[in-house]
Formats: sequence, structure tokens, C-alpha cells
Amino acid sequence: MPQLSTRITTLNEGGSDGWEVFYRARKMAAAGQPVTELTIGEHDIGTDASILQAIHASASGGHTGYAMVPGVAELRQAVADRITARTGVPTGPENVLITPGGQAALFAAHVAVLSPGDAALYIDPYYATYPGTIRAASGRAVPVPTEADRAFLPQGAAIRAAAAESGAKSLLVNTPNNPTGMVYPIETLEEIATATIDHDLWLISDEVYDTQVWQGEHISPRTLPGMAERTLVVGSMSKSHAMTGSRAGWLVGPTDAIDRLIDLATSTTYGVPGYIQDGALFALNQGPDLEDKISTPFRRRRDLALKVIAEQNTVTAIPAQGAMYLMLDIRATGLSGRDFAEALLDEHLIAVMPGESFGKSAAGHVRVALTVADDRLVEALKTLCAFADNKARADA
Ligand code: PMP
Repeated sequence: MPQLSTRITTLNEGGSDGWEVFYRARKMAAAGQPVTELTIGEHDIGTDASILQAIHASASGGHTGYAMVPGVAELRQAVADRITARTGVPTGPENVLITPGGQAALFAAHVAVLSPGDAALYIDPYYATYPGTIRAASGRAVPVPTEADRAFLPQGAAIRAAAAESGAKSLLVNTPNNPTGMVYPIETLEEIATATIDHDLWLISDEVYDTQVWQGEHISPRTLPGMAERTLVVGSMSKSHAMTGSRAGWLVGPTDAIDRLIDLATSTTYGVPGYIQDGALFALNQGPDLEDKISTPFRRRRDLALKVIAEQNTVTAIPAQGAMYLMLDIRATGLSGRDFAEALLDEHLIAVMPGESFGKSAAGHVRVALTVADDRLVEALKTLCAFADNKARADA
């Protein structure tokens, strides 16, 4: 066959490893082994029946043709109202593009701000698709390291150094954070804002976990002075409304940028199915009760998990304040996150993600998704801690 583009063949270049554990666990589970999967961010509940009914009613009512490319007017308005209410930044439908999930929004945002070969910054550890998304948009993916001992919070000096060194055009941040569970405090957001203004960067702010906050409060960096004109916010129905499979998300940004992004959508996705958008509109209109119903199990499990961790001394937890994950420091075992996760899967049929899957900064850590029933989670974490303790003793 003729040669494929360098863009597509280098998409995962220099990327993280460690997904082998996930795929091996899936294979073992498919073969009937009782694997406890604490790997990816998939709810252990399906989409609420009432939302499915709204989707069904819309589709059988005839909303099955091409939908408006920028999004159904009522949904754009509902997203704009939601953002205005949650952030205080006046936002209209002209600031909103509906996308097939947050992932498509991340890609579109980078296409909008990068010319081919431009450097794009992202914070390490990171959600696993980030570097590939930047490369797919013809950018040069440049990680900004963070430190475990500072709870992986980005530091202004590191952002500035990376921006100056690479001549970057954009910075991608994510709060509440996957994989660390941290919710960025205002001081961190202010450092991010001044660094982006000083280096004239676009800020791409991934806020798909904005309804899953257990401590502190979620602040959108778009609310900070001078930021609305240089920020593209990525949102999604996936996590807030357990609609991962529906592929419904959005981008919020300056009108001029959204207009261009509509041109891009016309040439790429051609919009999102109308019946899915009607389902998303119905879901948003249910208000916070439904969101709380979906987020509450993660808050409860996070508390249960931190209690198990507090009862021993080998494993420590990054004190997650949001999202559906817990990042555990297993450096006392002397193992890499990868070796720890492989051995835990072999010896105890418990699957966790190696920290290394999320970048160099998270080496020696594993990420636990809080996506199984409470009892099973507690039991798995107790086993994980005992396993870590054994390894640490053997290492001593
Ligand atoms: N951003 C982050 C940080 C995520 O964890 C995810 C999904 N795991 C996404 C974006 C994309 O979500 P979706 O495309 O389902 O909206």
C-alpha cells in the first residue's frame, strides 16, 4: 500500500506505555477469570432510563435527519445558560459548539489554535489521549512535568519554562483532574492564567469532571481576568450524566473562534445526532438531582478508599478532591507502577492502571478507578495494600 502520513504513523510516538495491563485484564475477564477491574473511567451504571426514553421519543418523533452542525439551538442555549450560571461569565449560544463528546472537542480545539508543527503544552500526568490528540491536530506535544510531592499540581515556573523553550501556542489543563483526582486551587489557576497571558497562549480547559467535586470547589479558569478571550472550555455529558456512549460534549469559547470551529465541524463530524442532543437537553434540564445521583457513589467510595489507605503505612494516596479516581504512591515497594500493576493482576486478579500510562511524572504510582461496588473496592484495596507491604518488606 502507499505510505501513510507521518501525522498518523507518529500519533503515539514517545507515548506512554502500560496499557498492556488494561488489555490483559480485559482478556482475562473475557476468558471468565474473576478480575476486579479498577482501570478505566466507565461508570458501573448505565445511562438513566429517563434519558434513554427522551432519546427514543426524539428519534421516533422524527429527529433522525441531519441536525444543525453547530448543535440544536435549544441545547446550545442550555449549555450557555449552564456555563453562565456556574461561572458568572456571560455566555450565549454563539459561544457554544456541540461536539461528539469531549474527545472531539479536544481535537477541534487544538486544530483551531495550532498551525502545523506548533508546540502545544499539556500537564504531565495527563489523560492518556492528550499527546495523540495534539499530534492528530498537527501539533508538537510538549509535556510540562509536575511533582508527586506537590500533589501533581502544575507550577507556573514549569509552564513558563516550557512555553519559552518550545514557543508553544497553547496549554491544555484539566481540573478536576484525571488521573490525579486533584481540583486545582485558585492559586494554581492564577499561575496558569498569568503564564498563558504572558506567553500569549490559548488555554484549553478540560472540565469534563466539573460535577464530581468532593472537596474545595471547581473554578473554571475562563472566569479569571483576561481569560475568556483566550480560553476554550471542553465539556461533556459523559461523566456528569453517565452518557459515555452517547458522545455528547461541547466547546465554549470566543464567538470568532466558535465560528471557525463550526467550519471545522462542517468538514469533519457534520454535527451530532439530533436525538442524542435532545437526550442531552433532557438530561441537563433535570438539574443537579440527577448529577448528584450519578456522582454520589464516587464520593462515597473515595472516602471508603482513603480510610483503607489510612490504616497502613506502605501505600499513600494523593488526596483526591474530585473525579472518579485515586492515585496511589507505591514507591515504597521499590517497583515501577507498571511492574506493580502486572504483578497485582497476576497474583490477585486486581487490575489498576500504572502511573506511567499517564506520563513520566506519575512513575511509581498506580491509578485506581472507583468504578466497582463499595465492598468489592474496599476488599481490592486491602489486598492491594497487603501486596504492597509484602513487596516493600522484600525490597527492604
Ligand atoms: N477528558 C478527560 C480528562 C477524560 O477523562 C475523558 C474521558 N475519560 C475525556 C476528556 C473524554 O470524554 P468524552 O469524549 O467521553 O466526553
